[in-house]
Amino acid sequence: TNIPGAEAVDRYLIETLTPEDEALTAAQERATAAGLPDIAMAPNQAALVALLARMVGARRILEVGTLAGYTAIHLARAVGEQGRVVTLEIDAAHAAVARENLRAAGVAERVEVVEGPARDAVTRLVEDGAEPFDLVLIDADKPSNPDYLEAALRLTRPGAVIVVDNVVRGGRVADSASQDASVVGTRRVLEMVAAEPRLEATAVQTVGIKGWDGLTVCRVVDPAA
Ligand code: SAM
Repeated sequence: TNIPGAEAVDRYLIETLTPEDEALTAAQERATAAGLPDIAMAPNQAALVALLARMVGARRILEVGTLAGYTAIHLARAVGEQGRVVTLEIDAAHAAVARENLRAAGVAERVEVVEGPARDAVTRLVEDGAEPFDLVLIDADKPSNPDYLEAALRLTRPGAVIVVDNVVRGGRVADSASQDASVVGTRRVLEMVAAEPRLEATAVQTVGIKGWDGLTVCRVVDPAA
C-alpha cells in the first residue's frame, strides 16, 4: 500500500492478537516450498473469518478456494471436532499441499478437500441436497463470484454468514469502466448482494501485509420475518 506504516501496523496487530502457531507457520512454509502463490488470507483476516464462524456457532463451513489450506485450518479449528469443512480447489497441486497441511495440523478428518472446478462442486452439493452450511467463504476465481454467491444462497439458511474476500482489488473495484474480469465479477457480486432481500451485508476495505483490499460480510436473513 502507499500508506506509510500500514504494513508495520498489520504485523504489530498480528503479533499481538493473532500470532500463528506452529501448524499455521508450517502450512505457509510448505506452500512456499511447493511454489504456491502467496495469496492466502492474512493471519488476522483469516482469524476474523474464524471468529465469525465461532460467533454463529458454525458446525458446517463451505470454502471456495483452498490454496494450501491455510484458511481451512482456521475454519476447521472454528467448527471443532464434531464439525465439518468442505473446501473446493481446482488445482491438484494446491489440493495436495492442502491435504498435507491439514493432516499435519491434525484436522484432516474434519475437512474434505474437493478437487475440481468449484462451479461443478457447488452444483453437485445443491443437487445432492447437502446439509446447509453455517458459513461460506468465497475466495477463488473472482469472475465466478456471482455463481458462487448464488450457490451459497442455496446452500445456507437464515442465520448463516457468507464472506466474499478480495472485493477491493487495490482500489480498482470503484472503477465502473473496468474491463478486468475480476473487477467485473466483484462489482457484479456486490450489486447482487445489495439487491438480495435474503442478505444483510457490509463491505470494508483493508490495508496491511496483503496490500489494499477488502472483504464483504453477509448475513442470510428470512425476508418474510
Ligand atoms: N482461501 C485460501 C487461503 O486464504 O488460505 C486462499 C485461496 S486462493 C486466494 C484461491 C484458490 O482458488 C487458488 O488455490 C486457486 O487454484 C483456486 N481456484 C481458482 N479457480 C478455481 C475454480 N474455478 N474452482 C476451484 N478453485 C479455484
